[in-house]
Amino acid sequence: MRRLLHFLIVFVAYMSAVVPLDCARASESRDLRIAVVGAGAAGLSAALTLQDLGFKHVTVFEATSQVGGKADSVEFGGRVYDMGAILVMPNFSTILGLANRFGVPYQDPGMKYLVAQSDGELIDIMDFPLRQSGPLSLMSAMAAFNHYPNRDAAAIGSDFAKAPREMNENFEAFSRRHGFEQVGLGIAPVTVGCGYGYAAEVPALYWMQLANSLVPLFQKSMQDARGSGPKTYAAIFTGGYRSLWVAISRHLDVRLNSPVSRVKRYMDESGQQRIAITAGGTTGEFDRIVIAAPLEKALDFLDARPEEKNLFSRIKYYPYNVVLFRGRNLPKPAIMFSNAHTTRATAGRLAGLYNQFAEGDIWTAGQIASPDMTQEQLETTLREDVASLGGEVLEILRRKMWSHFPHVSTKDLDEGFYQRMSALQGINGTFYSGSIMTFDSAEPAALFARDLMLERFR
Ligand SMILES: Cc1cc2nc3c(=O)[nH]c(=O)nc-3n(C[C@H](O)[C@H](O)[C@H](O)COP(=O)(O)OP(=O)(O)OC[C@H]3O[C@@H](n4cnc5c(N)ncnc54)[C@H](O)[C@@H]3O)c2cc1C
Repeated sequence: MRRLLHFLIVFVAYMSAVVPLDCARASESRDLRIAVVGAGAAGLSAALTLQDLGFKHVTVFEATSQVGGKADSVEFGGRVYDMGAILVMPNFSTILGLANRFGVPYQDPGMKYLVAQSDGELIDIMDFPLRQSGPLSLMSAMAAFNHYPNRDAAAIGSDFAKAPREMNENFEAFSRRHGFEQVGLGIAPVTVGCGYGYAAEVPALYWMQLANSLVPLFQKSMQDARGSGPKTYAAIFTGGYRSLWVAISRHLDVRLNSPVSRVKRYMDESGQQRIAITAGGTTGEFDRIVIAAPLEKALDFLDARPEEKNLFSRIKYYPYNVVLFRGRNLPKPAIMFSNAHTTRATAGRLAGLYNQFAEGDIWTAGQIASPDMTQEQLETTLREDVASLGGEVLEILRRKMWSHFPHVSTKDLDEGFYQRMSALQGINGTFYSGSIMTFDSAEPAALFARDLMLERFR
């Protein structure tokens, strides 16, 4: 009898390793030990949701000495500047809800929103699509955009696994096919300026998220007396974007300076999923893991299964160079995007420029780089482009080259990337969050993480 029992235990453990168990489908015990890897928007939103659901043992491991990830705020001369996330759009209800709940101040700094034409002329962002396309062409494109039946598949924070295959095509070809190419031209300076690649390369699934945020603003502006309506479109955090995540992290068990270096998933003798996690040199036992760190980097610490290796290695980025500099004769308080630098041929050129303080002389610049470009080349280009606007770069204060906008190619979407990622959720007690799962912006990242936890742990 004992030998039969032993055989059964070994058999169950073996089968569980071979045929993965899908965990956390039913109502879960609130005593589960859950580890979250990464204290960015996705990880902290996941951990907060789990805590709100009543889970008592939720631990967030963060590799660096601070929370926030790509919400990276730095201080100079008593003012806070954002080197990463900046803007909170009016439809970012999850982020605004968190800010209100935790009492984190945000404001509209009354910035001008501008597009620089190739001759250096600056025009209001809401007048730009009209100038670019003419009223009839723009109105017909907006009507086509509004009538596109599958728009919701790319709504903020949506599950990309449910998107129709036609959205896998690059945005340029997709928008032309559906009669709203002019919408693409209208949003291109903002989209490229924020580091989200080029219309001829990026699958429509991703750019449609930005179009869904921007087109309603263009429409409202046109209705409000042809562009003379309100010029306030987004909020910023008074203490920098990181202040939101710092406030939230104070209510959670967050371990800083704790890079996860090893994850081993196994079944114990009673057939229960267990996960041994080494973080900051210490190993602990957990029941579930939520990976909210960049997934391709997770291959360095995860006992990855073939499907995980296969999918994570497809993730790619745009190198997005952010430079904080002291300057003069540039627009302020303003955020400016360049219409002349929206294609790959203009990689490295100034794509976005930002200064939120009317009285300050510090600007933040963004350039989508090519992998082979050096910081010296990028600085030369920045100085030239600033000069062509009539301004001057006086002193570079700080630089940061981001691996920005995790995404996959049309081919990888055609091969079912998101459907296959979705099928992995819960297997071996493992959940995948982070901005690759939806779109690389704080609202979708936070919303996706929250919804995933609500769906799988409620
Ligand atoms: C320059 C720039 C400008 C942006 N502007 C905006 C904007 O205006 N508005 C907006 O909404 N969004 C903006 N974004 C996007 C936004 O910042 C991201 O979508 C969001 O922060 C992604 O959150 P995340 O949690 O998925 O990833 P991240 O913020 O990258 O967080 C991942 C975390 O995991 C940690 N980590 C990595 N490896 C390990 C490990 N082994 N162990 C433990 N921890 C680990 C990292 O240190 C990091 O803290 C911008 C991004 C950039 C780069």
